[in-house]
Amino acid sequence: MTFASLGLIDPLLRTLDGLGYVTPTPVQAQAIPPILKGLDLMAAAQTGTGKTAGFALPLLQRLMMEGPEVASNSVRALVLVPTRELAEQVQQSFQTYGQDLPLRSYAAYGGVSINPQMMKLRKGIDVLVATPGRLLDLYRQKAVKFNQLQVLVLDEADRMLDLGFARELQDVFSALPKKRQTLLFSATFSEAIRTMASEMLNDPLNISVSPRNAAAKSVKQWLIPVDKKRKSELFLHLYQSKRWSQALVFVKTRKGVDELEGELQRHGISADAIHGDKPQATRLRALQRFKDGEIKVLVATDVAARGLDIDDMPLVVNFDLPIVAEDYVHRIGRTGRAGATGQAVSLVCADEVQLLSAIETLTQQVLQRIDVPDFIPDHRVPQTLPGGQVVKKPKKAKKPKVASGGKAGSLGRWLESDASAAPAAKAVRKVPSFGGKPVKGGRKA
Ligand code: AMP
Repeated sequence: MTFASLGLIDPLLRTLDGLGYVTPTPVQAQAIPPILKGLDLMAAAQTGTGKTAGFALPLLQRLMMEGPEVASNSVRALVLVPTRELAEQVQQSFQTYGQDLPLRSYAAYGGVSINPQMMKLRKGIDVLVATPGRLLDLYRQKAVKFNQLQVLVLDEADRMLDLGFARELQDVFSALPKKRQTLLFSATFSEAIRTMASEMLNDPLNISVSPRNAAAKSVKQWLIPVDKKRKSELFLHLYQSKRWSQALVFVKTRKGVDELEGELQRHGISADAIHGDKPQATRLRALQRFKDGEIKVLVATDVAARGLDIDDMPLVVNFDLPIVAEDYVHRIGRTGRAGATGQAVSLVCADEVQLLSAIETLTQQVLQRIDVPDFIPDHRVPQTLPGGQVVKKPKKAKKPKVASGGKAGSLGRWLESDASAAPAAKAVRKVPSFGGKPVKGGRKA
């Protein structure tokens, strides 16, 4: 299959050619033709599937072919995203794909001064990528009008609800013209998402794709039980003894991110951090330095890392388990992309056993445990069983097993650069298309 066979116009085909995109990804093959026809769409797809081009390309084409020139303070297509990083990234994609088209795109998000954004909107913007809160501020200050709006895209809709944007989304929807095309992309489909979709979309086409290379994806996942207070010591021990090249490390809180970053730097490890308290420019710089290989360890919260295009990570470390089980799937999706072999290790303390159980239920696997001699926890992590059960009564702490052969294997075998020595890859279950957890309130990270 080619992009030309999907009905894209020449200027877009030339751009794709220049970018080296030869074959459409599954989400692109499924989404582009119906979007070009003007249909509403509900797509189960996460970052890494090529979903951005899946909606950006046909949307740019529709804006070229239909509708009047954009009037001042107006927008013709609105893309709502959960985070500033994603706003920048998605707008960058529009810029790239639309480089030969006479259309203007812009990203507006909170945490930075609103005045330049108001100035920018004066001329009118064909594609506005925005976070919901800042968009509402702009709307209430009459800096943006929706009377020319042709298309609305909700990108990472589940995440917007997780971050507590439900109210803002409702307010935005009520300000939009009823006659429009609406596209909803989400990695997961909870009851709340489906309710929102039924209110927002008009007879939508449903598509579902698994993460890119999901079938061939080989992510070796395991956990190391450890006492909470010894996690950073264990991380340093692993980093140094296993000579990790680069690692993306997820920590639950902003404070925890800063603490680990400081600890690593004190030990001479080049580390940087991204979380919600850091200014936008600092976050983008950290990400760029990580991509350029200037820093070895990038420590992040889930929200800050969400949606960022960090491909081909050899190693993801869950320093803390995520509160929301689906985030585990997103985190480990950073590794093992494009057919590469990836590893995902979780440092798990006794307090986290319920989180572990939720992850194991979601991914339909029990993560294998590897004890690290010298780090056997005083507070044992209760055993978990298939189906999400936790064995209540913790057994007495045993002496470390150095040799393999028992239930817990030897760490050395699995962390060496020879990936074939790692435990057999467990296929991570596709992010569930339907059914899920209720909306989470409050913003984190
Ligand atoms: P996304 O899922 O939209 O975040 O895209 C993931 C990555 O895949 C981005 O770096 C895109 O530039 C890249 N990409 C998207 N579509 C294609 C394609 N058809 N061929 C090659 N790379 C692509």
